[in-house]
Order: sequence, then C-alpha cells, then structure tokens
Amino acid sequence: MTGKERIYLFDTTLRSPSDRSGEASEDGQIRESVARHGGGGMTGKERIYLFDTTLRDGQQTPGVDFSVEDKIVIARMLDAFGFDYVEGGYPGANPTDTAFFREKRTERAKFAAFGMTKRAGVSASNDPGLAALLSTPADAICFVAKSWDYHVRVALGCTNEENLEAIEASVAAAIAAGKEAMVDCEHFFDGFKANPDYALACARAAFAAGARWIVLCDTNGGTLPSEVREIVATVIASGIPGSRLGIHAHDDTGQAVANSLAAVEAGARQVQGTLNGIGERCGNADLVTIVPTLMLKPAFAGRFDTGISREALAGISRLSHAFDELLNRAPEPQAPYVGASAFATKAGIHASALLKEPQTYEHVPPETVGNSRKVMVSDQGGKSNFIAELKRRGIAVAKDDPRLDTLISLVKEREAEGYAYEGADASFELLARRTLGTVPVFIEVDSFRCMVERRHDANGNLRTVSEAVVKLTIDGEQRMSVAEGDGPVNALDIALRKDLGRYQDEIADMALVDFKVRILNGGTDAITRVLIESRDAAGARWWTVGVSENIIDASFQALMDAIVYKLVRNREATAANAA
Ligand SMILES: [Zn+2]
Repeated sequence: MTGKERIYLFDTTLRSPSDRSGEASEDGQIRESVARHGGGGMTGKERIYLFDTTLRDGQQTPGVDFSVEDKIVIARMLDAFGFDYVEGGYPGANPTDTAFFREKRTERAKFAAFGMTKRAGVSASNDPGLAALLSTPADAICFVAKSWDYHVRVALGCTNEENLEAIEASVAAAIAAGKEAMVDCEHFFDGFKANPDYALACARAAFAAGARWIVLCDTNGGTLPSEVREIVATVIASGIPGSRLGIHAHDDTGQAVANSLAAVEAGARQVQGTLNGIGERCGNADLVTIVPTLMLKPAFAGRFDTGISREALAGISRLSHAFDELLNRAPEPQAPYVGASAFATKAGIHASALLKEPQTYEHVPPETVGNSRKVMVSDQGGKSNFIAELKRRGIAVAKDDPRLDTLISLVKEREAEGYAYEGADASFELLARRTLGTVPVFIEVDSFRCMVERRHDANGNLRTVSEAVVKLTIDGEQRMSVAEGDGPVNALDIALRKDLGRYQDEIADMALVDFKVRILNGGTDAITRVLIESRDAAGARWWTVGVSENIIDASFQALMDAIVYKLVRNREATAANAA
C-alpha cells in the first residue's frame, strides 16, 4: 500500500535457448541497416570528439599500474585507432607520469595532460603545480575543477568565489601558454542536483575564460540517463553551446555508456571514456562499446561523424583484445561488439536460420567491428551446426558422412560426462579431426606420475614442492622428463614440454595463460573439469578441456590437447602456405 507503481521482475536464467523459437520473428525484425559513410569530412554531419582517458582515469583500476613503457605502447594504439584526444596522465603527480610527459607521445591525436586548477590564494604564475602542467609538451590541458559547492568547502577549503576565480585563471594561463584548455567539472551532476546555480556558475566560468571543452562529469557514477539528458539540456539552455560540452561518465549503475549517449542526444559533442571500460570501482564509459554504437547505429551514424575510419573500426576487436593482453587478463566473452560470444548462437533452431540469413539474428554485421559469427557446438545443436562449425575450421565433411553422426554422438556423450566444448574450441577441433581420421599420433603417453611433498628446506622453512615424471614415446623412442613446479599441474606442464624430440622447437613459443577448475557435482563421485587457455608468439589463443575424477588427470588431458592442437595448427598453416 505505498501508492507506488509495481515493477515486475522476470528471471529467464534457466530457459534453454531451444525454447526461444517464439522470439525468433521478434528479434528477426529488429535489424538495423548500417549507414554507409566514411570517417569524417564533407558529410554535412556534426562531429563527435572522442577523448580517451585510459592512461589517466583508467589507471585508477584496482590492479592496474602502467609503466612508462606500457603507456607508450597504449598511447600508440589509441593514436593509431583515431581517438581525437589521448590523455596521458597527471604530470608532476608521480614519477611515471612525469617521465611519460617528457615527450609528446601521439602523432595524430591531441596529447592531453591532466591536473588541478591553481590553488586559491596564489596567482596562476606562482602556482608550481600549474607551472609544471604548462611546461609539458602536451597539446591540451584538462583541468579538474570542483563544481559541487559541498566539495569546494570540504575538499578545497576555499570559498565558492575563489574556486570560480581559480577555474578562470587556470584556463587563461593554459591558453596563454598556447595549450587547448578544457575543464572537467567534477561531480557536476550531483553538484547540480544539490546547487544548480553554483554548478552552472563553474561551467560558465570555464566557458567565459575560453575553455574549448567544459566536461560534465558523473564522478560517482550514480546518475541515470534521464537525469543526464535533462541536466545537459539545462546547461545548454543556460548559454553554453553543446559543441563545447563533453561527458565523462562512470559505470556504477551499469549505465556509463547509456549516460554518454544520452548526453550526446541532449547536445554534448565530446565523449570521454576508456578502453574496455577500465576505471576505478565499476569503471568508466567503455569507448569500445560507444564507438561502434556511434558509427553503426543509424540514430547516431546518420547525424554524426567521428574521427575514426571504417577500417579502424574493423580493428576494434583486435584493439580491445590487445589491450586485455597487455593487462594480462582474459577478454570478456560477453563484451558488446567485440566479445567472443557477441555473435555466437547456441540454439539449434536459431543456428539453422542464422546460416541461411545471418541478418535475422545479428544487430550489426560482425565484420564491421572485426568480430566473427560463431555457431556454437553444444548438445542442443543440430547437424547443420556441426557442419558449419567444422567448415569454419577448414574441415570439410559431407552431410551423409557416417563419421559425422559418430562425431555428433561422441560430442553429446562427452558433454554428458562433463566436457564443455563451447568453452574449449581447440579440444572440439581435435575431437572432430580425430573422429574424421586426420590427426597423426605425434606423441604417445606411456605414463606420468606426480608427487607433492611438504618438507623443510635447507634454511628450515616449510616448503611444498611438486615434482612430475612423464614418459612419452616419440618416433618409436621413449623419453622421460622430470620437472619441479609451483604445483602439480605446473610441474606436469614443465615435464611434458621438456623433451618433445623433433616437436620441441614448434612448441617453444607456447605459454599457458589461464587455468580454470570446476568441480561438477555428482554426489560422492564428483568429477573435475579443467579448462586451459594457451597462447603462442603469433598471438593465437586456444582453450582445451579435460575431465576426470582426478584433477591431475583432467589437467593432463587438457595440457596434451593444447600441445597436439598447436602441432595440428602448425601443419595446417604449412599446408596453406604451400598451396
Ligand atoms: Zn573519472
């Protein structure tokens, strides 16, 4: 009895995709054509400027700490992609950023430095922080300014007027130093809700002093799209044109992208964000989602240009994954546009329609963002799924080939045992190639043994040591390798790869990058599934799977598959080059 309207929540986690046939016509209709236009120029469209702050705000992500070398590599990636601004950090605040700002690190993009407005009580020319900022080779300076009177009082401890004066004087000093000036109005939306007049006065002070951009920040990330739309419109109505406004959104309600787009709809023309949405707490607005949306969705693509070319857009999946690689983390499979699952379909009924008419199930063509269509192998898939999936892997098989039926029943049987081929494409490919009779026996495993020992070392410290012994037969010759490792799987991995005879050089560039263990509940006879991700020097990544009642045995299966897959791929590549 609250007098409020009720929102009903419906959970569909448990629904299997094969029940989804009723939805087919519905999603099938919602296909948006891709606007045809180039990167920018004479299209009569308005320009949206993209500002990347991966190297500054993104650096706030827990566990992320870029070195100067990392920053140089990332700045190059951002510059080549076509962002208008690359913000490099906060020179003077720490040795890394100071070193990074010794040189200009971009060629096309404007190189931006971040820093505070001058302190109250000193003149701009006497503020050492401001002087340090102005002396860098940055093209643009992004000042952070308080725009919530509460923060001015509590954090700065100065008067509202002194804060306005600091904004004006800092912008003027940057312009006098030949820099493009912009002002990040920190906590703008919360400040506006608390005291709209003062928040607006801060934005107006920046505008009046000549700032190229006045950036409205949702620093706490709690603002909703409807509020962003309304507040941006109010700022424009107060006399600051949208062509001078930017948006800086955080993702604390999962709406940083929506908030950025709402600001654009309301008139803002600069969008700030980071690669893959990294940033403190829940992250910043994800430019990897925003860019394709601005460029591919007619509502935006029809009205706006960005500085990014079609060719660059087709490299955005690679950019996103290369950045994850640099962060040493696995790419998010469900990331919009660029995730491995972004264009993957599981259901049999969807899959056959997808193959006939891909547009019916895809909101944009995957190749526009450098991604690819995937029809996943699963126990729900039909025969057409398998044929398509095999074809995608360069394996031709006729629909009436009896080995295909063998493969399908084998996959179903093994998935029932706990194998998960959707997440282990390399093991699936090996199983398919073996069933179709195209995988040679490279290595025979005669036996392996694994030992874990806890003991005192020479210094009397307690240590747990793992040792593995692997016996293999290669080309009729038995080989035995022994290795120690951090754990039993690590020891096995090292021993396994220690002496592979004539295959040794081929697997030298392989590395294990991820290892996942799941205990599948079967009561007393619980079984373990191990998924292993490997990569090589060429940047290829592949997942393999092992299942057993014993975790070491499951790991060994996955490790062996990873090696054999690499050997098979090498032969495929050699054959392709020879052809
Ligand atoms: Zn921020």
